[in-house]
Amino acid sequence: MICFSCHSDKNKGIYSRMGHMHLKKATAKAVKTLANARYLIALGKPRVVLRYIDKFIKAICLGKITPRQIDIALTFDCNMSCDHCFTAPLFNGNEKEMDYATLKQVARDCKKLGITVIHFTGGEILMRKDLETVIGLFEPRRNLIYIQSNGMLATKSRLLSLKKAGLDFFGVSLEYPDKDKQDTFRHHDGYFDKSLLALSMAQEVGLQTSVNITIDNQLIHSPELPKLISHLGTLGHIVYGNLPVPVGRFKEKKNLLWFGDERRILKKLTERFPFFRTEFDSNFGPKGCPAMKEKIYLCAYGDVLACPYIHVSFGNVITESLVSIYHRCLGFSVFNTYHDHCLAAENKMFIRRVIDKTLDFSRQPVFYKDLEKELKTPTFKR
Ligand code: SF4
Repeated sequence: MICFSCHSDKNKGIYSRMGHMHLKKATAKAVKTLANARYLIALGKPRVVLRYIDKFIKAICLGKITPRQIDIALTFDCNMSCDHCFTAPLFNGNEKEMDYATLKQVARDCKKLGITVIHFTGGEILMRKDLETVIGLFEPRRNLIYIQSNGMLATKSRLLSLKKAGLDFFGVSLEYPDKDKQDTFRHHDGYFDKSLLALSMAQEVGLQTSVNITIDNQLIHSPELPKLISHLGTLGHIVYGNLPVPVGRFKEKKNLLWFGDERRILKKLTERFPFFRTEFDSNFGPKGCPAMKEKIYLCAYGDVLACPYIHVSFGNVITESLVSIYHRCLGFSVFNTYHDHCLAAENKMFIRRVIDKTLDFSRQPVFYKDLEKELKTPTFKR
């Protein structure tokens, strides 16, 4: 394990062993972490809670942080064609999705790394007919199991079957409070209503539910956003705010990106609504970008990325262990630092030097060695 407690932007690169977090910060972290733990307790999985408490104590008392979550794309195939899709460039019909033997090995490595949240995603995850079997490979009693879907293929019987297989959380994505705008964005009539229906079916079978909102530059400044968050929270959903990232199909929609003081607005919303959060809010370490330190992204064909939006592969689990790939990636200071902003969405220099460069290559993700010089840039100024 590595101590990341001092790896904020201000104290980059300083390793420390014990008890060096200010009491105030530690208290604030404890309050937020306990709020997260509330959702865990409601799952009725005592082993997950015990593992979570163990990670929490090690983080607070020893400053030892291990990854908390892995996002596993089981397929890049999809039934839709949305305007913001970041996985579209990763899809390759000629490559093979990971087989069960590889996934079993990934599950063992997740255990070694201390990961407690297994988040299956796509493409459209419900297109995997064998999702129940895959969930079984990841010891659902020891792990919190989450799926992120567009909801269009959800039926009550499938959701119940997934619940029985060990699924805990069902999440869908929404972007706009306006039904017509939402359906146009997704190129799918009735998307808005159907996604809410899928969430309500998930609740009926006993799953916890969440909604991801990709908050573009217009929505973040709109009075409709707090209304949407409030409405979704009233329906019992956790709401996650995602930033618009210039990757995949969003690449061409530069007018929708953030480069102003939008994070300040986002922060205020997380303070106002207890059920609204960003990925910065679930860290065991300092608030900030969790890429690789706390969250790992695994592509359908086995490539390991620090972040779903940064299409750089640090190795492939078909030929190498997840543990060694994780350590390799943390050898790059840009990924062992808790940046106080999103590298992929808000850091112009990182976008120019790394993200835009990946477009020069025919296969995505690009192998890290092809961008090693760029990744070793000492400081990425915003
Ligand atoms: S770069 Fe941005 S999207 Fe990626 S992990 Fe960091 S904060 Fe999240």
